[in-house]
Amino acid sequence: MAATYDLVIIGSGPGGIAAGLLAKQQGRPFIILEKGGHAMQGIIDTYPKGKKVYPTIPKRYPDPFPVLDIKPPDEKIPVEAYVDQANTVIKENDLAVHYNEEFKQIEGQFPDYIVKTDKGSYLTKNIILGFGSNIPNDLGIYGEAKTVARNIENGEDYIGINVLVIGGGNAAADVVCSLSKIKREAKDHDTSVYWAHIKETFEINKDTARDLGEEVLLGGHIKILQKAIPKIGEVDADGIDRLYIHQTTSSVMGNDLYLYQGMSFPMKNVIACIGTHGPSAIFDALNLQQITCTGAICKIAKEGERLLMLSDNLETSRPGIYAIGGAISPSYMEIGSDGIIKEKKHSNLIYTAVLDAQTAMNKIVKE
Ligand SMILES: Cc1cc2nc3c(=O)[nH]c(=O)nc-3n(C[C@H](O)[C@H](O)[C@H](O)COP(=O)(O)OP(=O)(O)OC[C@H]3O[C@@H](n4cnc5c(N)ncnc54)[C@H](O)[C@@H]3O)c2cc1C
Repeated sequence: MAATYDLVIIGSGPGGIAAGLLAKQQGRPFIILEKGGHAMQGIIDTYPKGKKVYPTIPKRYPDPFPVLDIKPPDEKIPVEAYVDQANTVIKENDLAVHYNEEFKQIEGQFPDYIVKTDKGSYLTKNIILGFGSNIPNDLGIYGEAKTVARNIENGEDYIGINVLVIGGGNAAADVVCSLSKIKREAKDHDTSVYWAHIKETFEINKDTARDLGEEVLLGGHIKILQKAIPKIGEVDADGIDRLYIHQTTSSVMGNDLYLYQGMSFPMKNVIACIGTHGPSAIFDALNLQQITCTGAICKIAKEGERLLMLSDNLETSRPGIYAIGGAISPSYMEIGSDGIIKEKKHSNLIYTAVLDAQTAMNKIVKE
């Protein structure tokens, strides 16, 4: 039978942790589900190393910071120290965070929702969606490669394995570099990190290029595949899902005839770092009402973009399901208490994520 809670919080970013702290103070049974291996995984995945964290409060919002335990200090600490602060808060308050557990779907109706993850099911009345704005793009090829926004967890799992990283930006470069380093330090001289990009040129910044150059000079086994096109998923004779990737090696040979040079990797050894997208598709899958921006309705979102519809306490069109933080930035559609719907600007900041958590929790405790 599924475990029962009053509240399930998706994501252990500043918004999710703040919601957890407030639920704890109210004595509400809750859990936080985090798909990464660490608290603040979204921040770990997106901030450059050593980046200073600012406790910015946007204009027209009230001071002080709503949940002080999760406020970055005024003296602007590096991101690593902010992540440590979050871990201390979780430990000292004994917050129940399930790491490496990915939220997938919501079944049932209010007040008996079933939250489904890749590990299990939870029965709950309320759900806070605090999964941020960085959802990795899927490769969209049968067999499901691991898709990551920036960092790879458990890099050690790839020792002794030829691994293929797909993508041409800094995120892919960081993954290539860290996997190569792990293999090199483990004295794995027999396998390589293949790095494939659909174009000829890669778009990486100077710091990342320096790290990569250093890794190659130190003996890293990195093999670059330019103009490489991930083609199809196939199942081999042993029943293993594989990805076939090819590079065009010659011009067209007569009518309708092409010659390709290709490689095939078990799909489980493929890591796709091919950008991120907003959570609109997830809101669709959860049947949460969104409104398409047309004409003069939206000033922040572009024509055609779809915005989540929320009440002034951040409840979605499904009762008991709330959306907060980066997941609803840079704007959403607010239904005011007068019934008028208008686009509401929402800055993607730690402060707003935490304030949102407080707004949603105020409503949940009133129920
Ligand atoms: C480079 C950079 C620098 C920034 N600097 C600042 C700053 O100095 N000050 C400031 O106020 N703001 C800053 N921001 C913005 C700030 O980090 C975000 O506004 C804030 O992290 C949003 O918090 P959140 O809790 O909504 O989402 P996130 O912090 O993104 O957390 C979401 C969490 O949900 C998890 N998750 C996602 N999908 C699932 C799933 N399916 N199942 C389970 N878990 C899931 C993620 O792994 C992640 O840990 C910066 C952002 C960037 C990119």
